[in-house]
Amino acid sequence: MPRRTFRYVPFTITQDMSAEPEYEARCVAGDEAECGAASGTHHDPGPVEEWQRKHTQNTGHRRYRRTFGDYAELQPSPYLTELN
Ligand SMILES: [Zn+2]
Repeated sequence: MPRRTFRYVPFTITQDMSAEPEYEARCVAGDEAECGAASGTHHDPGPVEEWQRKHTQNTGHRRYRRTFGDYAELQPSPYLTELN
C-alpha cells in the first residue's frame, strides 16, 4: 500500500460576520406526502417562527424541518505564518 504524507496545516475556522446567517423552516407534516410549505429564507429566526405559528394555526400542521446556514472562513494560524 503506498504511503501518503499529509502536511498538516492548522487553520482557524470563524464565522464570516460580513454575511448574514440564514434561517428557514419547511412543513413536513402529513402522512402520505409532506406538506412542503416553506417559510422562505430570513436573516433572523423571528419571522420563521412567526410563519410556523401562522401555518400551524391555518392548517393544524405541527412538524417542521428547520435549517440554518452561515458562512465560515478559514485562516492560516498566526503560528504557521511566522514559520513561513
Ligand atoms: Zn403544512
